[in-house]
Amino acid sequence: MKTISAILVALLLLLNGNATFAQDTQDDGSLFYDSHLHLTNYIQKGPSIRDFMKVMGDKVGRSTLFGIPLQQQWSWMNSGEDAPKYYLDSDAPLYYYSFTDAYIAEQFNELTEDEKKRFEPMITGFNPADMYAFDHIKRVLLTFPGVFSGIGEFTIHKEFVSSKVAGEVASLRNPALDTVFSTAGEIGLVVILHNDINKPYPKTYTQNYLKDVWDLFRRHPETTIIWAHCGLGRVVAPVKDQVVFMEDMLDDPSLSHVHFDISWDEVAKYIVSSDEAVKKVAELMNRHPDRFLFGTDEVGPTDQEKYMKVYNMYEPLWKALTPETSEKVRKGNFARLFDEAKPKIRAWEEANKGKLF
Ligand SMILES: [Zn+2]
Repeated sequence: MKTISAILVALLLLLNGNATFAQDTQDDGSLFYDSHLHLTNYIQKGPSIRDFMKVMGDKVGRSTLFGIPLQQQWSWMNSGEDAPKYYLDSDAPLYYYSFTDAYIAEQFNELTEDEKKRFEPMITGFNPADMYAFDHIKRVLLTFPGVFSGIGEFTIHKEFVSSKVAGEVASLRNPALDTVFSTAGEIGLVVILHNDINKPYPKTYTQNYLKDVWDLFRRHPETTIIWAHCGLGRVVAPVKDQVVFMEDMLDDPSLSHVHFDISWDEVAKYIVSSDEAVKKVAELMNRHPDRFLFGTDEVGPTDQEKYMKVYNMYEPLWKALTPETSEKVRKGNFARLFDEAKPKIRAWEEANKGKLF
């Protein structure tokens, strides 16, 4: 009898243990999943994926993986021996560097099947003002099957960057961008879009970009969208009533496919600027726990302490969120969006195998 009850107790313990595990499927001991990570910079340099995995360590369970689609030209005429490393280092233009996609795919394909499960590689090397951009996306998928989970971060309006890009300037109104969004929707690719809400130093007589970006999102209800940095930038400050317009978006059923990432130390600086700001943002997130993702927006991190900077900046926010919201923002929403996307993308690749785009 004693033995039977001991077995029963052991069984109950086991079942309880499993129940706890089922409640939190992301419980791998890591602090967060990184929804916004650039492996390479504006001159296409960065750590190898294996070195980056060392930087993730056991602190970061999973991560997106993308380069930067824009290359800063080293113009001898502009800077001579002074080789630019950043887009603000030179007056020379940026241009679309499509090889970034092959580079990211090659890095990913060096990993074991188990290691691959930690990464969501993204296609970025297309010109969003080119009506052929969607062909590039399909070509990359079929050239590197089993690799990519989405497209982005790619940029339409970005302070100091968009105006430097060679060729036709990107626009939210360009039908080429609509083709990119509908292709992503058709295939199931997650979209990470950078689009500032406003100009760097807005004047009272200019309009912000909100209406155009909402119109774009509404035209593509079938596409899973992550709006990077909540539309903010280094000098693109939150518009008056930022939280109100975000809540309007979150409550709008025609925008239920849109999510926000709170990546970038430049965004964290606004959110943690005061107890009042933390409280407002935390309340907004607690009301809409499924719609926010944390990311670092680090570029080619080589040092774990520096890599954790944005996560640590958000300490007051993590404390202000309910445990459920915090888990979703740090991990759960990342897992849900990408785990839902991948089977669809793999099925599209299978169905289109051998086709040439
Ligand atoms: Zn970024």
